[in-house]
Amino acid sequence: MSLALALSAEGFSVAWARAEAFSAPRSTDVRTYALNARAIDLLTRLRVWPALREWSAPVFDMQIRGDDGGAMHFSAWQQHLTELAWIVDAGALERLLSEALRFAPRVEVVPALQAGQPGVPADLLAICEGKHSDTRRALGVSFDRQEYGHWGVAARLRASRPHQGVARQWFRSPDVLALLPFNQPEPDASYGLVWSVPQPRAQELLAMSSADVEAALSEAIAQSQPEALAQLGELHLASEVASWPLALAQADRWSGPGWVLLGDAAHQMHPLAGQGLNLGLADVDTLVAVLREARAQEPWRTAGDERVLRRYARRREWPTRSMAQLTDGMLQLFADPRGPLKSLRNGGMSLVERLGPIKTWLVGRALDA
Ligand SMILES: Cc1cc2nc3c(=O)[nH]c(=O)nc-3n(C[C@H](O)[C@H](O)[C@H](O)COP(=O)(O)OP(=O)(O)OC[C@H]3O[C@@H](n4cnc5c(N)ncnc54)[C@H](O)[C@@H]3O)c2cc1C
Repeated sequence: MSLALALSAEGFSVAWARAEAFSAPRSTDVRTYALNARAIDLLTRLRVWPALREWSAPVFDMQIRGDDGGAMHFSAWQQHLTELAWIVDAGALERLLSEALRFAPRVEVVPALQAGQPGVPADLLAICEGKHSDTRRALGVSFDRQEYGHWGVAARLRASRPHQGVARQWFRSPDVLALLPFNQPEPDASYGLVWSVPQPRAQELLAMSSADVEAALSEAIAQSQPEALAQLGELHLASEVASWPLALAQADRWSGPGWVLLGDAAHQMHPLAGQGLNLGLADVDTLVAVLREARAQEPWRTAGDERVLRRYARRREWPTRSMAQLTDGMLQLFADPRGPLKSLRNGGMSLVERLGPIKTWLVGRALDA
């Protein structure tokens, strides 16, 4: 939807092949997305951000803990930023993009694409079908998926104390628990929960009563950082609990004659760094910039010209691969609860905490995926 909006704003004609399920955008997605500065900038240019801001909360501080004393703290103030990220309501983002599209010029809604069948004739087919893309498969693009055996469990929480814009993450080995400060349903005292746990544990959590999930969460926090419980106050579930299987994958080709891949159709990674959608929105931003440049400098080329599309692929493949390696590396480092890496990984975390330039570099990478 963001690509259709951005292309329409550039004067391109767009046929949006909308999935059946999309005729009524989900408003019940319990996820909150941590969006970086580049993503917010794109949503601002698409005129979606002013309304979405009402459904978002800024992150001023981020506290990360290891499983044996390791700790890192990122602060917007230290990095001379107004905020580190915005936590955004997934359903509101979808709804507002879809509303904006209704008023976008030159955008026609057409039926969902069926793999192997000709779609609407167009210079360029932009494939944004998510990780299970059929069109990618039909094009013979390989997408080697490495399953983590972990599921991302997500829910909304209400807290008895204000969050003060602090995001918290605990690398608990093997699970990773994150609480993202949010403003719904309780202004200034809600969180988005993202808990990556081995699949059997995820199934247990999904089958539990609300009280048992809350108890399991408090127990996990108490084990990782006992003093955090008092800072957070009582945590209560404010939504259903949902889960997603987690994997690492990247397409071996991002473009070809007349087609490109964007978003999860091109890359999938663990949500521990909250980068999947940020990278997808950066794909959109980059593709539109490449098409704009080509139209200005080489007007004889069509939007589906393979040479033009290769420029997009080249600009996006490296940042995506390096972010995937960074998140995967962190995950592997914390994969084994008993391993000899325990003191190394916690010591490494504390070392990064003391090295200002590395922290600034990490923040820079996260802000501009
Ligand atoms: C628990 C969890 C937490 C996350 N947290 C964050 C976060 O904090 N920050 C962040 O940046 N990312 C986060 N992510 C990642 C983020 O959710 C994904 O990267 C993002 O949703 C991918 O968007 P997409 O549009 O590429 O794919 P999808 O969201 O999968 O959307 C693809 C769409 O294409 C439609 N479709 C498929 N086939 C067709 C067809 N043939 N014709 C028409 N339509 C079709 C599908 O119905 C679907 O609506 C998180 C992920 C998880 C699981």
